[in-house]
Amino acid sequence: MDYKDLANVIFPNVKNISYYEEKYPVRNLKEGAVVTRYAPSPTGFMHIGGLYQAVIAKKIANQTGGVFFLRIEDTDQKREIENGVLDIVNSLKEFCMSPDEGMIDEENEIGDYGPYKQSLRKEIYQAYAKYLIEKGLAYPCFCKAETLEEMRQKQEAAKERTGYYGVWSRCRHIPINEAIEKIKNGEEYILRFKSLGNPEKKIKHHDVIKGNVDFPENDQDIVIIKSDGLPTYHFAHAVDDHLMGTTHVIRGDEWLSSVPLHLQLFQELGFKAPKYAHIAPIMKEEDGAKRKLSKRKDPEAAVSFYLEAGIPEEAVDEYLLNIANSNFEQWRKQNPDVDMKEFDLQLNKMSVSGALFDMVKLLDISKRIISKYSAKEVYDKAIAWAEIHDENLKKLLQRDTEYSLKVLGIERGNEKPRKDIAKWSDLEYNIVYLFDEEFFKEKQEYEFQKINDKDEIKKIVESYISKYFNINDDKETWFNKMKDLSEEFGYAREVKEYKQNPENYKGHVGDISTVIRICLTGRANTPDMYEIMKVLGKESVVKRLQEAIK
Ligand code: GLU
Repeated sequence: MDYKDLANVIFPNVKNISYYEEKYPVRNLKEGAVVTRYAPSPTGFMHIGGLYQAVIAKKIANQTGGVFFLRIEDTDQKREIENGVLDIVNSLKEFCMSPDEGMIDEENEIGDYGPYKQSLRKEIYQAYAKYLIEKGLAYPCFCKAETLEEMRQKQEAAKERTGYYGVWSRCRHIPINEAIEKIKNGEEYILRFKSLGNPEKKIKHHDVIKGNVDFPENDQDIVIIKSDGLPTYHFAHAVDDHLMGTTHVIRGDEWLSSVPLHLQLFQELGFKAPKYAHIAPIMKEEDGAKRKLSKRKDPEAAVSFYLEAGIPEEAVDEYLLNIANSNFEQWRKQNPDVDMKEFDLQLNKMSVSGALFDMVKLLDISKRIISKYSAKEVYDKAIAWAEIHDENLKKLLQRDTEYSLKVLGIERGNEKPRKDIAKWSDLEYNIVYLFDEEFFKEKQEYEFQKINDKDEIKKIVESYISKYFNINDDKETWFNKMKDLSEEFGYAREVKEYKQNPENYKGHVGDISTVIRICLTGRANTPDMYEIMKVLGKESVVKRLQEAIK
């Protein structure tokens, strides 16, 4: 009896690995093209850290003319959640991170290197496991859970490393004929890798992000095939990333310490190892200390948070690039109008420790991005968001599309567009006062500022309506009239004049225009008042001003 007999008893019907090696040939890509993947487990809602990995992996593949694929790692079927795959696929789609290959919904996929869902690749893993058994590098383990637990306690008591290795790997030493006997008798077993590593020796590894690291060689006989016939993460990683032609494994740095094992698996399976880039997690500052963004504690950890708030997906993507490479910010300053796709992302410039999540920065990016949209784009995107999240906003915008477009066009499409909108959930507050129906619905609370004498305000507004206001004025004329109004009431025409001789004036043109602004809009801060008057139209302006002085 030899290893081949054992392999045939365990896997009588699987194909030879040469079948798979031919079926999935080396990819025909141009020199330097990088193949990356995002390989989530469908075990919970999509985390911003997952999107971060996908953004990086896709960008690196795209910018080298390579391939980015999505692989669903569903070998831990107990932890799987309903609609887990759909949530991943849809989230990627929402954030424009759809893969070139892989799952496109719960069942369907695109690409020639599939199936891209691990639970459908059982016989592939088994073929490679059989290959290892034949080489004497994998063996059945009959240890029961209680046996392993007992062993662990003994190891702990003896202050030894825990695990299945060296003298502790008892099933490694079962003679082949005995093992075959046990299997034939229907004893339950799993398959373990027979590690030839020596932990006294070190392996040197160069991680694309973390740089040079060294680790002791792996000597654990890890499980490769579980009792349900499915592989463990480690084994599936080696088989899949080999067959799928991954050149760069970009993944969370919780896997860094598994590198010695993974390199060993690639070596014993006769595969060329990929490059590894281990990404540090996104961190959050709390009470002066840094910690990982947590699924449990932080709502912003879920990608759905951004969708619900109506932060454009572009802004989230750009923010993630921003934390990936610290030179992005500089690049953005120099290339304000260039598509972020043009930025050259470098894995080796990524931070070794985790970047800090900064909501203010994200919202700033979002404001800048929204400021560049046309009124029509804002309208369409806001409606698409409101459709799902805000019935009021949808109604408001759709009541009179033409008017809404005018409202959204205020301070837009010019050199210094308005930057006051960070997310669609802010939009209603930002524009609602420009709709007469809404404006007159409630009694306005006018909070006057420097000029707050009711009588004076009344006189200023009356004078403005009767002597100065003309909806057809151009901007310069309009502004000159605001200055004339100021002069009439003893306020400086220019702020500068006022600052030079404050004793000569009651205030300046800014104080006067604030009065008009507050009467017109109910607010002290608004975009350009000239543009607002143009959008409101003569009737509305007069009505609003008269209402205010009542
Ligand atoms: N399924 C693994 C995880 O979600 C993937 C790790 C990897 O990218 O290789 O952590």
